[in-house]
Formats: sequence, structure tokens, C-alpha cells
Amino acid sequence: MQNVPMLINGEWVSGKGEQTIAVTNPANNETIANIQCASEDDMTAAIDSAVRAFETWRDVPVTERARLMMRYQALLKQYHDELATLLASETGKTFDDAKGDVWRGIEVVEQAMNVPSMMMGETVENVARNIDTASYIQPLGVCVGITPFNFPAMIPLWMFPLAIACGNTFVLKPSEQDPLTPNRLAELFLEAGAPPGVLNVVHGGKAQVDRLLNDDHIKAVSFVGSVPVGQAIYKTATANLKRAQCFAGAKNHTVVMPDANKEHVLNNLVGASVGAAGQRCMAISAAVFVGKAKSWIPELVERIAKVKPGLWNDSEAGFGPLISPAAKQRVLSLIEQGKKQGANCLLDGSDFTVPGYENGNWVGATVFSEVTPDMAIYQEEIFGPVLSCMTVDSLDEALSLVNANPFGNGTSIFTNSGAAARKYQHEVTVGQVGINVPIPVPLPFFSFTGWKNSFYGDLHAYGKQAVRFYTETKTVTSRWLDDDIPGPLNLTISM
Ligand code: NAD
Repeated sequence: MQNVPMLINGEWVSGKGEQTIAVTNPANNETIANIQCASEDDMTAAIDSAVRAFETWRDVPVTERARLMMRYQALLKQYHDELATLLASETGKTFDDAKGDVWRGIEVVEQAMNVPSMMMGETVENVARNIDTASYIQPLGVCVGITPFNFPAMIPLWMFPLAIACGNTFVLKPSEQDPLTPNRLAELFLEAGAPPGVLNVVHGGKAQVDRLLNDDHIKAVSFVGSVPVGQAIYKTATANLKRAQCFAGAKNHTVVMPDANKEHVLNNLVGASVGAAGQRCMAISAAVFVGKAKSWIPELVERIAKVKPGLWNDSEAGFGPLISPAAKQRVLSLIEQGKKQGANCLLDGSDFTVPGYENGNWVGATVFSEVTPDMAIYQEEIFGPVLSCMTVDSLDEALSLVNANPFGNGTSIFTNSGAAARKYQHEVTVGQVGINVPIPVPLPFFSFTGWKNSFYGDLHAYGKQAVRFYTETKTVTSRWLDDDIPGPLNLTISM
């Protein structure tokens, strides 16, 4: 049984904490590794190592930091399939999905390779007579990342490459449910040439996170995970006068207008709703059919019914198991509540299992219609392969419904009307909008811009906003007087 080591000051060491957490294969719940959580001393050592490394890393030229990212990108590409296999073994994701998880992370590293131009400041000459002003972008110090289970490659890669490219050092606390992929990412980062202490990885849960949030050396906290944890971390981090960006849960709607291309809508909704077992913060969990578009619901159900869960290496599998027995129980309980509260269960995946893997956390694709905003399946983020279909009579009604929802991560509209699309993109109170694109995750030269209860903070993940999050601006105003210019004689002497 492999133990999951931590990375402290460039060395892989065993945690000395008392708590042990089993890492399991979600397809059968067998233990594949054990985490020995970080002790108080381990946490201090990791933070100290990042503090010491910052003293030298901050002065490494930005071009050298960019070259580290170039070497890292090349290694991630070289080991892409190996990483995806490891990722699939601990998350249960299908191989294609696991490859996507790794690839979307590599794209952020590619963005980090551009750090020199992203760290350019501003200058204005002669703001007053003989006075110039210039701004410089400098790193903050030690930054922290706390990541969720559902993208164990992409989300750590949203954080540490850009933070480190900006000149910071980093302590990563990955999800305890799938720590093997983040550890391998860190191993490759060392292989790319990262000096000791620039990236540290500690394992554990709330106790280890609390230790990080209460340490004065930590300057900024990036978190991705659930709403209650995101709110708690944002409050504690900011109360302790740290910068914080906390990405949280979601309830993403697709609005289907009756003039949309039906084939395109149905094909896209299948993957966007039940793909990755619905364990995506940008999954479409509510489909809002406007007017006559509701007549497409039976055909949508037929298509979703063909998508079956399976093992990660089964090429026929549409998606994998849920991450844990607790996640499965939560989703099953919400499906039951949906039935009790009067939603029409058109496709029920509650009893699904994979022969030979009956102990796995399987839930089949599930579709409800006649869902109303008061129902638990609408109010809660299900984070399972469950689609709620709702109906309204107009685009205005659809907008009111979506805007009344407390979440604001992503949304999409399917229509052939430019006017309807323009009205939706302008009026919707959601941070990421797709037009005839179901899951509008921006590429890393933009930023990941969730709103409302899907995000607490000011500056978002990756892109220019992340560079601002991980840096300070220093503004220098200087005056040099002509009278002080040395004469030719003086110049000769000084040479
Ligand atoms: P989670 O909140 O349970 O855990 C996230 C991280 O926080 C883990 O590292 C965990 O160890 C730590 N943690 C858990 N409880 C804690 C506590 N009480 N105090 C301090 N730290 C704690 O989330 P999860 O189940 O791993 O991930 C799923 C959630 O993440 C979903 O809600 C999903 O929507 C969200 N998510 C959001 C985005 C986004 O960009 N908005 C992206 C991916 C996932």
C-alpha cells in the first residue's frame, strides 16, 4: 500500500500527524493509498521553507521563471497520458475526461510562460515638470492553494504555476480524496528545475487549512470547493488580513429557445449535464425550455438514457462513479426528495451498478421534468448526473428565473436569434455565458469569472486577473534635475 508523501523544502517526507486518510478507487471503494496527515511541525516546516525560498526566488529574473514554466509545460505534455491514467485511477473519470483535466491545466502553464509581458507596469513621463511616474509589479510572498477533488490536475494548475511565475512561493493543500495526481504534478515541477521550497505540498483537511489561514507569513489564499467551506475560508482569510479568492458551488442553467438548432441543443446537453457524472462546477444542471422547445424533452431523455457509467478504461463508458459513498448517498437522497416534492422523474439512475463493481459509487443518468424553484433538487447543487428540466413561456421569464438563483458560475443560451442572445448576455447576472456553447469555460488568457455565491473575492483565477491577485503594484515617482547632470570632466573621471 503506497503512502502519500508531502513535499517540504524539495524533499518528499511522510506526514507525522495522527490522522490517516484512505485514498480509494471510487469504482469499488478499495483503498489504493494512505495519507498520513501533516502534523503541526510539518505545517511549520512547509511554511518556513516557502518563506526562506521567497528570499531568493523573488529576485530570480522573470525570464528565468518563464523558462521554468516552459520546461514544466514540456514535461506535462510528455507525461500527459501517464498523468491522466493516475488521475482516472483515483477519481474514476473516463480516460478522455481525465485527459481533458490534465490538458486544461497545461493550458494555464502555457499562460504562465507569458509572465514577462503580464508583469509589465505602466509609465508616464513628465507627470509634472521633470517628474516621471512608473509602476512595477512585484510578488506578494507565500501564497496558498486549497483545491477540491473534482479536477485534481486542472485546479492546482490554475494556482501554483502563475503564482510562482509571478515570483511568489507556494504551499498547496490538495483534496484528501485524490492527492496522487497533485503529488505527481509537484514531482514533475521539481524535475523541471523548481528550486527547493518554491512549491510545497501538504496533506490533510480542515486542521491543516486552518493552520495555513492563521499564519501571518501567508499573504494570499486561493480556494476552490463547496459553498460553506468557501465562505468560511474567505471570512477567516480576510479577517486575518490576507488576500482571498474563493471559488465555490454552482447551479448552471441552459436556456433553450424554440428557434434553436434542435440537433445541436440535444447533442450538447447530453455531455454538459451528465458528463463527468455531473461533478463539474460548470455542469449544466438546469435546462430551461422556452415555449415550444419543451416538446424536445422526451428526445433529450432518450439520448441521455443511452449514456451509461462505467470504468475509467472502458471506452464505452459515458462517465465514471461519484467520488465517495457519501457523495453517492447525498445524490440519491436528493433524487428521492425530487420525487417526493412532485418533480416528474423521467429517467432514474438510482439503482444503477456496474457488474463486478457493485461496491462502487455508481449513480446512473437521471432526468426530472416539471421542476420548480422551491424544490430541493433545484435549490441545492446536486453534483451528480442529474438534470432538472424546467419550462417557461418567454425569454424574460427565463432571465428572471436564472437571475433569481443565488449562484452565478456559468450559463448558456441556445438560439438562432442574435437579439435574444444579446439580451441574455447583457441582462443575465452570471459571470460566464455561452451562446450556443453549453459549458463556457474561458481559456486561460481570459479569467474564470464566476459571480454571486459561486465566487467570493475580487480577482478571479488565471489570466490577467490572477497576475494582479498574486502581485503588488509599486509606483515610483522620480525627479532628476538638469542642474545635477555631471559635466564631461566629471564623467571621464568617474569612468
Ligand atoms: P470541499 O469544499 O469539500 O473541499 C475543498 C477543499 O477544502 C479540500 O481541499 C478540503 O480538504 C478542504 N476542506 C474541506 N472542509 C474544510 C473545512 N471545514 N475547512 C477548511 N478546509 C476544508 O469541496 P469538494 O467536495 O472537494 O469539491 C466540490 C465542490 O467544489 C463543489 O461544490 C463544486 O461546485 C466546487 N467547485 C467549484 C469550482 C469553481 O470554479 N467555482 C470548480 C471546481 C469545483
